[in-house]
Amino acid sequence: KDFKSDQEVRWCPGCGDYVVLNAVQSFLPSLGLKRENIVFISGIGCSSRFPYYMNTYGMHSIHGRAPAIATGLATSRPDLSVWVVTGDGDALSIGGNHLIHALRRNVNLKILLFNNRIYGLTKGQYSPTSEVGKVTKSTPAGSLDHPFNPVSLALGAEASFVARVIDSDRASVTETLKAAAEHRGSALVEIYQNCPIFNDGAFDVLKDNEEKQRRIVSLKHGEPITFGPEDERYGVVSGADGFRVSKLSEVDESEVVVHDANREDPSYAFALSRLGGQD
Ligand code: SF4
Repeated sequence: KDFKSDQEVRWCPGCGDYVVLNAVQSFLPSLGLKRENIVFISGIGCSSRFPYYMNTYGMHSIHGRAPAIATGLATSRPDLSVWVVTGDGDALSIGGNHLIHALRRNVNLKILLFNNRIYGLTKGQYSPTSEVGKVTKSTPAGSLDHPFNPVSLALGAEASFVARVIDSDRASVTETLKAAAEHRGSALVEIYQNCPIFNDGAFDVLKDNEEKQRRIVSLKHGEPITFGPEDERYGVVSGADGFRVSKLSEVDESEVVVHDANREDPSYAFALSRLGGQD
């Protein structure tokens, strides 16, 4: 089945959004769902044009309110696969409140948070994930705000599936989004997405640094917390010195590999949020 709509895709050439769209269109048929049972709900922003490009149901909704609308749909129609497409401005500024409550209620939603660390649609103002000192048209002297870390935010709201991927790694984007689709509960996947027009190269430091790439977290409640290349898995380890990240092949038997996201344990969430840092 073809999940591509007949609409012309209108993102700028080279935009990271294309990678996510192509990944979703490629794995969605393998889930065995009927097109009429899939719904993409977006807010406002560049990425929020996503529903036009899917040959499914969809709604380009209100700024920041996609999680609220999607919550209504997912709870009244549990048979549907409901997706939220949002960006760093849409989800974390005007829509921050709706996002955290969708996550803490563990609504059965797949939330794709395109993070390009800038407002692209309105032509380049600093966003809630822009770094301190960011010079933009709206912050000519540099931003004073400390950025949100969406992974920390989701863990703090006790989302049951949290992951971060980068648009330059198409295989990992596909694998992670497919895992999110198969998860029942609220899944937040933050996607580091390059905006070549207004914030080009925002994530180049990660592309060039293998060690930092390994910090990209994939976490599912009740399953081992591992990440990194298949043949060199890293995990979250509980040792005498608290939680830390280690190559699983180097873990001492006396140390415990954390197998469960303990939603009651704040130090655990903190350890993971540190892993997900944007430094
Ligand atoms: Fe993509 Fe940036 Fe263009 Fe928006 S402004 S479509 S985020 S490249």
